[in-house]
Amino acid sequence: MSKKSLGIIGGSGLYEIAGLQRLAKKTLRTPFGDPSDAYLIGELNGETLVFLPRHGVGHRFNPSEINYRANIYGMKKLGVSSILSFSAVGSMKAEIKPKDVVIVDQFIDRTVGYRKHTFFEQGMVAHVSMAKPVCWALSEIAYQAAKHVAPQVHPSGVYLCMEGPQFSTRAESLLYRSWGVDVIGMTNFTEAKLAREAELCYATLAFSTDYDCWKEDEEAVSAEKVLAVIGANVETAKKIIQEAATLFSKKKSCECPHALQQGLVTDVSKISAKTRKKLGLFLRKHA
Ligand SMILES: [Zn+2]
Repeated sequence: MSKKSLGIIGGSGLYEIAGLQRLAKKTLRTPFGDPSDAYLIGELNGETLVFLPRHGVGHRFNPSEINYRANIYGMKKLGVSSILSFSAVGSMKAEIKPKDVVIVDQFIDRTVGYRKHTFFEQGMVAHVSMAKPVCWALSEIAYQAAKHVAPQVHPSGVYLCMEGPQFSTRAESLLYRSWGVDVIGMTNFTEAKLAREAELCYATLAFSTDYDCWKEDEEAVSAEKVLAVIGANVETAKKIIQEAATLFSKKKSCECPHALQQGLVTDVSKISAKTRKKLGLFLRKHA
């Protein structure tokens, strides 16, 4: 691939991209294991897109089982420079209604350590900054792409990333509300951390499906109702991807491609040949 392309990671229900002119389907093996599925590479509105369904086609991996490292590594390997992430979330605020989209700008991590969330280990240490955990320039594209398509778009919001797969208790949900959380999900912060380490731009479009369990006056949500909202959200997401592909060439330049510059801690001469080989894709520029 000659130019840097746009990666799309799809969440629940988003397993294909409307109008994508398919060029290739790539099954990759990475030094970190196998990605969730084959990557679909294609063209849309003049842009090269690389698509991966986060949970695998047919939704086979739960949030703790997803191999996030392999998924992000594969994107980098295929020449992706930016990843737009789509996911279903619970709303923690009355003003974020079902079917609304939140362009997430902050995260709180409540995962419990089952998942691998760094590429840098086994003799190689890096500490990248997560003060601003998403790419502001790509988030701007996400907002522009969504604003005329989704019922309502919230330009910022805090995403709490829980382990799952069970949903929160009401006590937890109320605690998170007291922390100022806007939406709750199970996947995106792990991706954001790894994308930053891989020096990729990353932005999250969080699609609200329901009011988690904090809202006592809400009539009991049926699975049928939630599924209908998810179905509508997937259709909105497909339209947003069309818009994003058109807008992507206008993305401003940002700091993400230099995230490791200050972050690599280990003396390069002390990194073993094995680790150096494993991380070669990331170190090429730095070591
Ligand atoms: Zn960026």
